[in-house]
Amino acid sequence: MKKHNNAGSAAETISPIANTDIVYPSTIPFILAHISLVAIFWTGISWWSFGLAVLFYVVRMWGVTAGYHRYFSHRTFRTGRVRQFLLAVLAQSSAQRGALWWAAKHRAHHKYSDTPLDPHSPVHRGFWYSHLGWIFARGANDADYSTVSDLTKFPELVWLNKHDYFIAFALGAAVWWFGGWEGLVAGYMLSTVLLFHGTFMINSLAHVMGSKRYVTGDDSRNNWALAIITLGEGWHNNHHHFQSSTRQGFRWYEYDATFYVLKAMSWVGLVWDLKSPPREVVRGETRLRGVVVEKVAQQLAQTFSIEKISAEIREAWDQSITLEEIADRANDAYAQAQAYLDDLQMPQLPTLEELQQRAMEMYSTSASMDDIIARAREIILEGVSFELFDDTGLMPA
Ligand SMILES: [Zn+2]
Ligand SMILES: [Zn+2]
Repeated sequence: MKKHNNAGSAAETISPIANTDIVYPSTIPFILAHISLVAIFWTGISWWSFGLAVLFYVVRMWGVTAGYHRYFSHRTFRTGRVRQFLLAVLAQSSAQRGALWWAAKHRAHHKYSDTPLDPHSPVHRGFWYSHLGWIFARGANDADYSTVSDLTKFPELVWLNKHDYFIAFALGAAVWWFGGWEGLVAGYMLSTVLLFHGTFMINSLAHVMGSKRYVTGDDSRNNWALAIITLGEGWHNNHHHFQSSTRQGFRWYEYDATFYVLKAMSWVGLVWDLKSPPREVVRGETRLRGVVVEKVAQQLAQTFSIEKISAEIREAWDQSITLEEIADRANDAYAQAQAYLDDLQMPQLPTLEELQQRAMEMYSTSASMDDIIARAREIILEGVSFELFDDTGLMPA
């Protein structure tokens, strides 16, 4: 019976929100990594250790974006089994946990983008939670490994995922052995901490600041500054629009260093099957998936007040027509009553033009905009008819 009020129910239909309590002891190593940087005042930072920091940042950021993200999470290109393992080793040298954990969490992010089930949505849990709080939430160590069964079939990846910080520690120890304390602190720790925040900004800032070229149903943005910091990951709205593309900078001027390196690697056969977005996808001419249309229509419908519209209708009808009459005339059937309502001229309901106007203010253009608007009007009408008939006892079971 509760067909009503689809608006706002996306959250309820998905299942309860995961526990978001922060487990504070688990933040200690992360905090210590930041505090360790104070040691730079003693060790100093010279040209060689600064150069080492830049090198470690750039190479490992590439490991994060090409490895964790474009390969393990989205499988946007292919490579051999040994190189796949080396990609995981390089990614995990960034100390951002196991490649399988990272991919499982990231697939959940795309599946539930900016809904309450998104592991890190700034829209629902606030900026700092999406930036780093989520990593220390209760249960954050667990991931739904059933969503990465294409990766868990490789025992070497499972082993590496289990010993998730091993590579990062081994690298740190090697740097200390060869470069002493200055190498460890100014070269290795500094770049590791900057790498944390560079990566995390895609989860936080890239869903808050920037432009939305495509209607994606979430708050992903394109942000050129983030694209520089993250070697091409800043074109995050592009990426949410078409996730299976290796290339995230869709236009020639959208700098995407990760892709350039992968492209060069493909010329010598190290990787292959790189994917680019089809022309219609870049132009935003393809129709959106049904779930995206539904999500956007819900958002659009929510910007109108069902209560206010219903109150206005009720007031207008007080003088002319009773709700009982309407229900009777619609043959007691809720669906028919609704169809009848649709036929009735109700100036209180937003017109298609009004919805179109509102949608134009809220979103960029999309080939599916007519579907979104029609669906949003349907949602509002459903909500209003529930509101009107609920009190009369005329609602069908
Ligand atoms: Zn992604
Ligand atoms: Zn995202």
